[in-house]
Amino acid sequence: MTNIKSIAVIGAGTMGSGIALTAATSGIAAFQVDISPEQLERAKAYHRKTLDRGVEKQRMTREQADAALKLVTYAGDMGAAKGAGFAIEAATENVDVKRKLFGAMKDTFGPNAILATNTSSISITDIARSVGDAADRVIGMHFFNPVPVMKLVEVIKGLATSEATTKATIELATAMGKTPIPANDRAGFVSNRVLMPMINEAFYAWMEGVADPENVDEIMKLGCNFPMGPLRLADFIGLDVCHDIMMVLYRELGDQKYFPCPLLRQLVQAGRLGDKSGRGVFEHARK
Ligand code: NAD
Repeated sequence: MTNIKSIAVIGAGTMGSGIALTAATSGIAAFQVDISPEQLERAKAYHRKTLDRGVEKQRMTREQADAALKLVTYAGDMGAAKGAGFAIEAATENVDVKRKLFGAMKDTFGPNAILATNTSSISITDIARSVGDAADRVIGMHFFNPVPVMKLVEVIKGLATSEATTKATIELATAMGKTPIPANDRAGFVSNRVLMPMINEAFYAWMEGVADPENVDEIMKLGCNFPMGPLRLADFIGLDVCHDIMMVLYRELGDQKYFPCPLLRQLVQAGRLGDKSGRGVFEHARK
């Protein structure tokens, strides 16, 4: 049981929009905040479309879908969400962006609010530095893509994270239908420490002509029983996000093996970011 009735979700991209929707379908009010009006519009369209699909597939009633949509409030400024007892940051994977946001989150939300980050790889302890004596309320709450479907939430304590913060985070994740599993505060935690080098190696296999991208993916799907090949997964995550995560692993763990493959870097430079831009390794209908 969680006593959290409303959350603020900072960032309305791939992850933030999924987190807000999952909260709402679990009966928790969500303030969806983003500095980009275009991203807020996209999040709103994604929420409508996903809920409509849920009704069509008889996973929920029209009334339940309408009630969930009513629980989401869209805002360009986090001040609109200041009453929320729990804030989840899901903005760009960049430590400076996150430090600045956490400073603002500390000032915006009440003295007891929990300040969680959905970072894929950045140290929770490092992010918590920007909030001084509120560091005990900072925690990693790492959801997976697509959030409404994926069960896991990696829960990461920073050096100063309190037991009360951890307990409330586990309770919220559970109330959102997720399975929280703890991991320690090392770059990439468990999931991306293991996943990203495999994705990077798939880019090398393509770049070196070991196989074309379709066959790299088909081999890994049929040979390892993966539901999705690593290159398709990279598009789904966002090539820019994969690149940023690998740079964090490379800098923090100090091993060349984490440095992003030149072909991945080039695709990001060309603006080929995956599903979200319509083209990455493969072509996609824009979300
Ligand atoms: P995204 O690029 O889709 O969205 C990021 C959003 O943050 C954008 O809408 C942007 O406008 C917004 N933003 C940037 N600065 C902001 C600010 N100051 N205030 C409010 N909004 C701001 O990225 P994403 O894939 O949703 O990733 C978000 C976070 O989640 C990152 O830390 C990422 O590492 C992590 N994550 C991503 C995945 C994935 O599969 N994509 C999975 C787990 C965790």
